[in-house]
Amino acid sequence: MDYANALLDLVGNTPLVKLRRVTDDAPGLVLAKVEYFNPGGSVKDRIATRMVEAAEEAGELKPGGTIVEPTSGNTGVGLAMVAQEKGYHCVFVCPDKVSEDKRNVLKAYGAEVVVCPTAVPPEHPGSYYSVSDRLVREIEGAWKPNQYANTNNPRAHYETTGPELWEQTEGRITHFVAGIGTGGTISGTGRYLNEVSDGRVQVVGADPHGSVYSGGTGRPYLVEGVGEDFWPDTYDREVADRIIEVSDADSFAMTRRLAREEAMLVGGSAGMAAAAAVRLAHELDDPDAVIVVLLPDGGRGYLTKVFDDEWLSRYGFLAPPRGEKHVGDLL
Ligand code: PMP
Repeated sequence: MDYANALLDLVGNTPLVKLRRVTDDAPGLVLAKVEYFNPGGSVKDRIATRMVEAAEEAGELKPGGTIVEPTSGNTGVGLAMVAQEKGYHCVFVCPDKVSEDKRNVLKAYGAEVVVCPTAVPPEHPGSYYSVSDRLVREIEGAWKPNQYANTNNPRAHYETTGPELWEQTEGRITHFVAGIGTGGTISGTGRYLNEVSDGRVQVVGADPHGSVYSGGTGRPYLVEGVGEDFWPDTYDREVADRIIEVSDADSFAMTRRLAREEAMLVGGSAGMAAAAAVRLAHELDDPDAVIVVLLPDGGRGYLTKVFDDEWLSRYGFLAPPRGEKHVGDLL
């Protein structure tokens, strides 16, 4: 019989899919690493598994313990999945810009969710970083994975995402493009690809306009899960060869195109990374380029945001015509 013993055994080994239309005939191959194929629906399943197992080995997380983490949703889902399998409790702390859909997903997995304001600096007592620190002190048996400082975050990518890409492309990958949140994905995957290719693979970060990685000061932007207003320990500044800055407008336009033209329903950070990858393909103008772009999560958590015309127009982004018609419109 062909079955997995546990959902956790299905983390990683996600497919690579060629982008055919959104590249607008740019020469070369642009391949998407589609991370919503992970069982929890995002790239973060990879780090959740690795961080929890390392904490158990180090004796930091004991049976019946509670996992407390500031997370924009995806890391929470990954952690909640691992927690269920192993019998831990979860408390997640989210900034209020995270969609309600995403928060409800965490609750559905049995986690507790605490919501904090987005528009305060990280050192503010109400920030989601500060609140999670306080909860760790107050809850007995609490352990904070701290994805922003945990070396097992980039390590998970060094051990899985990097080798997968090298094998899937038979060593022909020329560029790796990824958004940067904690920096775990780009640092771990990028370092592996650098080492295995002797520095031949170019590592390219995609970053929202306003974030520190592309020289901003942390000015607010709407795309979720990427960009920062501080420099996390998990981001290795040596790895990326360059950073491409992408506006919210371009990120959201590409997110919509991926759904309509490639049938890939993905989140805004995936649209941002894909926009950077397509821009790079045009710039390189090289038929031998093999650009791999990582798409971190699926789009179902964003139906009331990037996929909602009213939401898009409220923020001044042009929306394509609606795909839904009412009977009255047809009469
Ligand atoms: N996209 C989304 C939707 C995310 O939640 C995250 C993680 N914050 C990222 C991209 C960025 O990944 P990383 O933290 O590995 O840099």
